[in-house]
Amino acid sequence: MLRRTKIVATLGPATDDPKVMDKVIEAGVDVVRINFSHGERDEHARRVDDVRNRARAYGRQVGVLADLTGPKIRLARFKAGSVFLNEGDHFIIDTRLGGEDGEAADGTQERVGTTYKNLPNDVGRGDTLLLDDGRIQLWVEEVRDHEIHTIVKIGGELMNKKGINRKGGGLSAGALTDKDRADIKLAAELEADYLAVSFPRNAADIHEARELFREAGGHGGVLAKIERAEALDALEEIIAASDAVMIARGDLGVEVGDAELPALQKKIIHMARSMNRVVVTATQMMESMIESPIPTRAEVFDVANAVLDGTDAVMLSAETAAGKYPAQAVAAMDRVCKSAEKQPLARISHHRLNTQFQRIDEAIAMATMYAANHLGVKAIAALTESGSTTLWMSRISSSIPIYALTGHVTTRRKVTLYRGVYPVSFDSTSTSHAEVNQEAVDELVRRGAVRDGDLVIITKGDLMGVMGGTNAMKILRVGDMPAPTT
Ligand code: PEP
Repeated sequence: MLRRTKIVATLGPATDDPKVMDKVIEAGVDVVRINFSHGERDEHARRVDDVRNRARAYGRQVGVLADLTGPKIRLARFKAGSVFLNEGDHFIIDTRLGGEDGEAADGTQERVGTTYKNLPNDVGRGDTLLLDDGRIQLWVEEVRDHEIHTIVKIGGELMNKKGINRKGGGLSAGALTDKDRADIKLAAELEADYLAVSFPRNAADIHEARELFREAGGHGGVLAKIERAEALDALEEIIAASDAVMIARGDLGVEVGDAELPALQKKIIHMARSMNRVVVTATQMMESMIESPIPTRAEVFDVANAVLDGTDAVMLSAETAAGKYPAQAVAAMDRVCKSAEKQPLARISHHRLNTQFQRIDEAIAMATMYAANHLGVKAIAALTESGSTTLWMSRISSSIPIYALTGHVTTRRKVTLYRGVYPVSFDSTSTSHAEVNQEAVDELVRRGAVRDGDLVIITKGDLMGVMGGTNAMKILRVGDMPAPTT
């Protein structure tokens, strides 16, 4: 059985061993995430090179998602490396400490610096500051110039450089830092297939990142990580400005409260799909597998529910980057996704019956899915330049595989994130239409996707090799095809 839901795995020290990387590829990873929050430039470049080389050796296409650090607001360092805060303690965040970048280790039991020097202007008495993903909570008593005076509400050990969120959101830091601007150039150099923008507040943040990415020569899609409370107020414009979105449940859960996440996940997946965008569900999906070779039952349900919600992809973070069982985590996701996809709920097609189509290729994609889902078609072969026909097709729930046949390696890598779409290297420019039909079907037969007697739908344009030129669908029965004429 072909898995339709795609698996994104974050690379890190745990996947640096070539044997582990091979096992991760064998287990079925579709896209790897390079996390610019950790590691150096050379390390990222080496990892991208390695994964592409290993994937090539397996005859596989693996996409690369480069994830910017964004304005993650952090505490600075402590003299002792950490402190223990008790409930009721007075504790000060002092923007004069920590140095420019928060690297100076001058924090004490009473006060610590932060990387965000504007913090005193963004908070006031009565706010709750959440440290280390909410494990420690501070109530703001007073803001005095450079100092935020707080009382510890929930205590615990506080280590160097832990993140700070304000409950309910509202910190005004812009989406792109100087480091992000430099990293966007690196993402372009690495030919990343997706650039993930962390903590965007609105569509303008996405447009700015896209412009910088294009200026640097980047061709990949732009993915918005939904992880700020403000992003929820601008959700529609952010999705419209992006090629893909990620439900970044870690930071988002801290800002809006964990109990809000399940409903938000369903809403964002539904909106992204209906706006023709790709959606990734991320964070703590198989968290226990950092230490354990098998997932908990709750994790199995979480992954399966994301599949039933209609996500394109599920993501692994520390499970693969720093965990003890990276390949097992991918394998566990693989089997849970496949099983969930067998459920009728995952196959029901919600045709866009009330939608007016904007383009001819979009209408062909929709007509194809309607016919395919109602005629018992075995496979769809979309001859595509940019992959957009396959994106429209994959927004419609179905169990029929959609093969993206294209001569462009960038398109083959981009579709690695689309649910139910599989990249195939195919040159359609040099042959006649009848020959192309035959070659496309032969390719599917070679892959074991179809055999004599099966129905196949082929979509293509009169002028093959032209972007956005798809204007035809053809339904063929394998083995019954007319002999090609020139
Ligand atoms: C998240 O917060 O859920 C997330 C995916 O972001 P990161 O892993 O970059 O913190």
